[in-house]
Amino acid sequence: MHDTRPLLEKTDFPTIYRDDINILQVNLGYLCNLSCVHCHVNAGPTRTELMSDDNIHALIKLFDNPNIDTLDLTGGAPEMHPLFKKLVIAAKKHNINIIDRCNLVILQEPDYTDLANFLYDHDVNIVASLPCYLEDNVDKQRGKGVFQQSIAALQKLNALGYGLENNDTHQLNLVFNPQDATLPPPQHDLEIAYKKHLKAHYDIVFNQLYTVTNMPIQRFGSTLISKGTFDDYLSVLKDNFSAHNLDSLMCKNTLSIDWQGYTYDCDFNQMLDLPLGSNPKKQHFTDLNLNTLHNTPIATLQHCYGCTAGQGSSCAGSLT
Ligand code: SF4
Ligand code: SF4
Repeated sequence: MHDTRPLLEKTDFPTIYRDDINILQVNLGYLCNLSCVHCHVNAGPTRTELMSDDNIHALIKLFDNPNIDTLDLTGGAPEMHPLFKKLVIAAKKHNINIIDRCNLVILQEPDYTDLANFLYDHDVNIVASLPCYLEDNVDKQRGKGVFQQSIAALQKLNALGYGLENNDTHQLNLVFNPQDATLPPPQHDLEIAYKKHLKAHYDIVFNQLYTVTNMPIQRFGSTLISKGTFDDYLSVLKDNFSAHNLDSLMCKNTLSIDWQGYTYDCDFNQMLDLPLGSNPKKQHFTDLNLNTLHNTPIATLQHCYGCTAGQGSSCAGSLT
């Protein structure tokens, strides 16, 4: 795989500063029940990297910080971490909004038959990637049979009460990102199309569709380099720069933590191994005082134009 970071270093992205941190986005490890071809962390059933028990316990202590109102769990399949439930129970006790980035298929695995009920009982909101509503496209990307298992999982979640309209709790949100080097279509229009198709064909409902712009990093960036279209894609991102997205960038209020406990401004910077702020060295979350991060600079490279292009992009979809 080509390293895209050297091509992103020379940047003219505006300098941005952090607000207060209120979201912890934590990668619990690379263990996963699937091994999707596009996976940016190369997760899979044989990966052994998991957040240590000590770090999980230290993380739970962070919930005492009154500014923290959201815990966003990623992986791998975060639910496969042996202390996943302990973490969720602790967050719920602190009235923290919990987001589980779920691959859906995990809900159908024999060892996880109680998982959907557990998530519901602890008011966990679910964000699930469904790159397309057509079976062939999903199976090509994620593996044979994944689409049908995802559909069955979505139906299971609906039966529990997930994804219902006018319901602030038990949100079920789906994620779309383009398959090619283009910006995502307007989020609202695509959401209507997804809802129409999934309801008509599978009687499935969900709350929101998040459209996410592909970042010119990792596997996607490497493919662009192989095809000779890396610079063209960067130009698309830059040419569509919208300054009004700068105020709502997710890095303004999110701390990204990797499976070893090191901190970053966002998940993309984590993938680029770009330490938090302008620090030359990575910092562990146990060495940080979250309350002193306000107004400190955020580490930006040229990939940041992916967050400001057009309707903007974040882990919660478009910014506008
Ligand atoms: S489900 Fe997600 S984490 Fe697991 S292999 Fe697929 S892309 Fe990677
Ligand atoms: S990639 Fe996006 S979220 Fe990450 S630091 Fe850049 S602008 Fe912020």
